[in-house]
Parts: sequence; structure tokens; C-alpha cells
Amino acid sequence: MRLRKVKNALETVNSHPEIVIPNPEEHRGKWNELFKNNNPIYLEIGMGKGKFITEHAKRNKDINYIGLEIAESVLVRAVEKLIEQPLDNLLLIHADAFLINNIFEKGEISKIFLNFSDPWPKSRHAKRRLTCNTILRNYCTILPIEGSIEMKTDNRKLFEYSLQEFVKFGLPIENLSLNLHEDKEDIITTEYEDKFVAKGNVIYFVEVKNNGK
Ligand code: SAH
Repeated sequence: MRLRKVKNALETVNSHPEIVIPNPEEHRGKWNELFKNNNPIYLEIGMGKGKFITEHAKRNKDINYIGLEIAESVLVRAVEKLIEQPLDNLLLIHADAFLINNIFEKGEISKIFLNFSDPWPKSRHAKRRLTCNTILRNYCTILPIEGSIEMKTDNRKLFEYSLQEFVKFGLPIENLSLNLHEDKEDIITTEYEDKFVAKGNVIYFVEVKNNGK
């Protein structure tokens, strides 16, 4: 049953090349041509079913958005939403985040969002975390100087690890909250965030800036 579900998901994902861009490496350095304007591009990595990025794209028409997701089983949900309600400032990519520097050129992405990334709690899996040193290097090769990374999570251990990795990498903290939902109003939430907030979990938030180091 599960196999069938995934097969259908992949078929849907692959049959909408206007939404999920095939061979994204071919557009490296030319994403603005696909959006047909020169607005800044914000990238969400591991966007899941796409609630956060779709809402951002609806509210901010002068920004282009790209959602990147490795799992077609959730990516397909975002595709279905966009078939129903197309958004010309949002495109999706079905790929592994560790390959982003094959997909984007230096300075092409103005902001990166990491929302509720997989915590990979075992230390032998630390290299898979989306805030490990290797991937921070990748992020900094696609962000311009002054570009930023925004991260939200309810996982204290992942948050502590990420703060340490940002500091070790020399990325200065611009904004920080140890209880985002107490500190800020009008938050655009993700699917996971809604679930965790309903359970009473605290949401941590940090924004770091690429200072070109
Ligand atoms: N951001 C969403 C989903 C969080 S779950 C939300 O907050 O609701 C983490 C997501 O990251 C999953 O959908 C998972 O498939 C995706 N992911 C994990 N590793 C990834 C990688 N290397 N590249 C792209 N996506 C990844």
C-alpha cells in the first residue's frame, strides 16, 4: 500500500514541471528567468507539505520563493495545493539539500528558512543535520553577504547544536527567541509548528547573517 502511495506521489510530482522544476541544476544562476523578474529569492529547505512557504508567497508578491523537499510523499501535498491555487512567485524543487550549490549560484538566494528540520539525535548522524558545518558552508556559497538563515524548531538539543555550529562558523546572531510564540504576533506557522504548539511545546527561533567570513 505504502509503495503505491509513494509511486502515485512521484508521478504527480513529475507530471507538473511548471511547479516542480525538473533538472534544477540547469537553472543555476538563472532562477530569476523562471520567475520572469529580478525580485529576491527566499528558499525553504525541507518545506514538507508547504503551508509556511505558500502563505509567505501569498502575502509577499514582491519576493520569489523556492521550496526544496527531498520526500515526494510530502512534496506532493504542496503540489496539489498549487494545482488548485497557482502562485507565480513560488516554485518547488525535489532534491537533497546537501546538493544546493549545484542548483544555485553565489548570491542567488537572499534568505534560507529551516523549519523543524529532522533532529538526527544520535551523534554519529550529526553530519545529516541541516545545520552541520558542511551544509553551512553550502548555504554561505549561495547567500550573498548580508543574506540570512532563519531557523525554527521545538527541539532544544538541535537548537543548542545549531547555535554552536553557527558560532563556530562565525555567523553572527541577528535575532533570537527562546519562546517565539510568546515574543511575536502574526507568525506564519508550518504544519509541524501547529502540532507542536498545540501540544504546548516552546518554539525556538534564530536568525543568523552571512557576513562573508
Ligand atoms: N518544514 C516542515 C517539515 C518539517 S519535517 C514543517 O515545519 O512542517 C523536516 C522535513 O525536511 C521533512 O519533510 C524531510 O523530508 C525534509 N528533509 C530532511 N532532510 C532533507 C534534505 N537533506 N533535503 C531536503 N529536505 C530534507
